[in-house]
Amino acid sequence: MSLFDEPTGKIASVLLPKPLPEPFDYAIPADMQLAPGMFVRVPLGPRSVTGVVWAVKPGPPKRPLKAVEALIATAPSMPGVLRDFVDRVARYVVSPPGNVLAMCMRSREALLPSPVEKFITRGQGETGRMTPARLKVMDALTGIEGQGAHLVTAADLARLADVSAGVVKGLVDAGGLRQVELDADPPFDAPNPEGEGFELTADQLAAAQTLRDSVKARDFRPVLLDGITGSGKTEVYFEAIAEVLRGQPEGQILVLLPEIALTQAVRERFARRFGAMPAEWHSNMSAKERRRTWREVAFGRARIVVGARSALFLPFPRLRLIVVDEEHDGSYKQDEGVCYQGRDLAVMRAQLGKAAVVLASATPSLETVANAHAGRYGRVVLKARPGVAVLPDISIANMRETPPDKDSWLSPPLVKALEENIASGEQSLLYLNRRGYAPLVICKSCGERLKAPDTESWLTEHRYSNMLVCHLTGYMMKKPEHCPHCGAKDALTGVGPGVERLAEEARARFSTARVEVFSSDTAGSPEALADIVARMEQGEIDILIGTQIAAKGHNFPRLTLVGAVDADAGLKGAQGSDLRAGERTFQLLSQVSGRAGRADRPGRAIIQTWAPDSPAIHALAAGDRDAFMELEMGNREMMGLPPYGRLAAVVIAAEHSMAADEAANSFVAGAPNAEGVEIWGPAPAPIAVLRGRHRRRLLVRTERGVDLSGYMAVWRKRVKLSASVRVTIDIEPYSFM
Ligand SMILES: [Zn+2]
Repeated sequence: MSLFDEPTGKIASVLLPKPLPEPFDYAIPADMQLAPGMFVRVPLGPRSVTGVVWAVKPGPPKRPLKAVEALIATAPSMPGVLRDFVDRVARYVVSPPGNVLAMCMRSREALLPSPVEKFITRGQGETGRMTPARLKVMDALTGIEGQGAHLVTAADLARLADVSAGVVKGLVDAGGLRQVELDADPPFDAPNPEGEGFELTADQLAAAQTLRDSVKARDFRPVLLDGITGSGKTEVYFEAIAEVLRGQPEGQILVLLPEIALTQAVRERFARRFGAMPAEWHSNMSAKERRRTWREVAFGRARIVVGARSALFLPFPRLRLIVVDEEHDGSYKQDEGVCYQGRDLAVMRAQLGKAAVVLASATPSLETVANAHAGRYGRVVLKARPGVAVLPDISIANMRETPPDKDSWLSPPLVKALEENIASGEQSLLYLNRRGYAPLVICKSCGERLKAPDTESWLTEHRYSNMLVCHLTGYMMKKPEHCPHCGAKDALTGVGPGVERLAEEARARFSTARVEVFSSDTAGSPEALADIVARMEQGEIDILIGTQIAAKGHNFPRLTLVGAVDADAGLKGAQGSDLRAGERTFQLLSQVSGRAGRADRPGRAIIQTWAPDSPAIHALAAGDRDAFMELEMGNREMMGLPPYGRLAAVVIAAEHSMAADEAANSFVAGAPNAEGVEIWGPAPAPIAVLRGRHRRRLLVRTERGVDLSGYMAVWRKRVKLSASVRVTIDIEPYSFM
């Protein structure tokens, strides 16, 4: 080591984008000035890794440290507010902070200066001696100019003219062509708040004023912008954006959208309102586009970013407003890798940076409504435009008056509606939140109901896998030939419908219809799920029979009929494993109606119920969202479920079934003692085998006041498991797969 490299005695704590529990300490060389937020290269084992200085501490170190290798001076420092966010998120979602940092460093190239790109354009000088090859080049350039372009790469020009690169170079040397150098990541055009606005109604003006006040106040308080499709939510939150652009010339704005598919349409609306395309951020961008957005955001030059949930991890130095559009949408929840709810993190990010937050939705989540009720969030309501339907035409099929035939689950009114839909080539969705073939197995001989051995729950018959399964604990057995109670042979029979059985009935009844089951058993992988969604979108399915995963915000343009086969079960819902069933039923019905205006035929829904007088069915049939939400909230409060209690899911995955059981059992055995904590499980996860790994799941419920993240972190730390076992902790889970 040369004198020049002698450490100063100071220490840099460097966080690395790796699953490590904390930052590592390195010695700072004497010739290096470091401050928190700077990107540096440090040795890690035999390799060299890029990380972020998390703290600079006085030395000297207690033990010899490896030295920081290099400062990446071309990278903008990571803002303090983002570093705080990384720490807060890591703690909240019970993840190593390095895994959260990795989400902030998704564009590796962004740390280097933007490269310069070379282009060819028409020169001022002589073209020199014109050869046939040179003529071809000039002709090609004229052609390009004819299409309105003035810049082309040398390689493209040579290819278009069908000449060698040397010919183009010769023309540049002669002066007929000119080479220009441009930044590969040009700044985004500046948005203009005074761009072409919209004519706002009195209602919308009042709502916009509330949002503007929230932006101006800079005291953190989220606002729920509650208005149905077509009520002008976007135009109203555009006014909040304009307020930032006007009042805070360096302020930045982030607009989160649930679907990448929506991004382009929304960006064009921005371009019309603000005269410039906003930056974008999502998984479907090229490395070059990501580098440009990341750098422009980091330098504070990108004023507006429209993106997916991952845009929360961009290095905004001056984020002043976050809009979460369709805040209820399930796709804000990431349930693989670092599990987080993007809406909740948006609120956390805004709070750290004293930014305003607007949560916009036509069917707000119960969590957000509860926050508004409690006064933690403000609320702005946009009333419906006259004539705009809130829900589809909803009718009740009273199963007492029009019961289905024996061994059938579809009532005559629903059968008739399905027939009409098939005849007119439109799509139908039968919603039944019961996986498998039959929810109950009984003995015809003695009446015994088959129960899981260790819990008070009935076994469900799955014909797909030929097993009897307890959905509460996940206990599983082969269907026995003899009744375990009386010994009668072949007397065990499935009672009631699951999606598999409903599909059997639909296929028998509507022989020409293409029927498909959509549940976690049949669409167990993301690929299988995407395949069913794609076939439904392309009209290759007539009747889709789905559990709650079918209700997850898919947009099926030709879907005009929804049959809620067993609304009673859907609305009883909250059994821990299926917390949002009722909410999803309601959102599903609203989504169907959202399309009704576009289709030439209005959407309709038929709700089969044995309890037509129940308050929830009344609220649903009347399209009375607020009454419905009140009831749902009452149920959740009674059961101590979110948002009134807290929930965490733990999935333990191992290569072998026995190893998964052992790991799950020792995990549960290691649970710290605490008041107000309930542990349910372990049990095989609903998707018990995923990508070859056996999965066990448990649920942890606590009172609202309990620090669930802290509890889970202590628990995770004290249980030592084999390195091949994977533990995923999901705070406030959405998916129970
Ligand atoms: Zn029996």
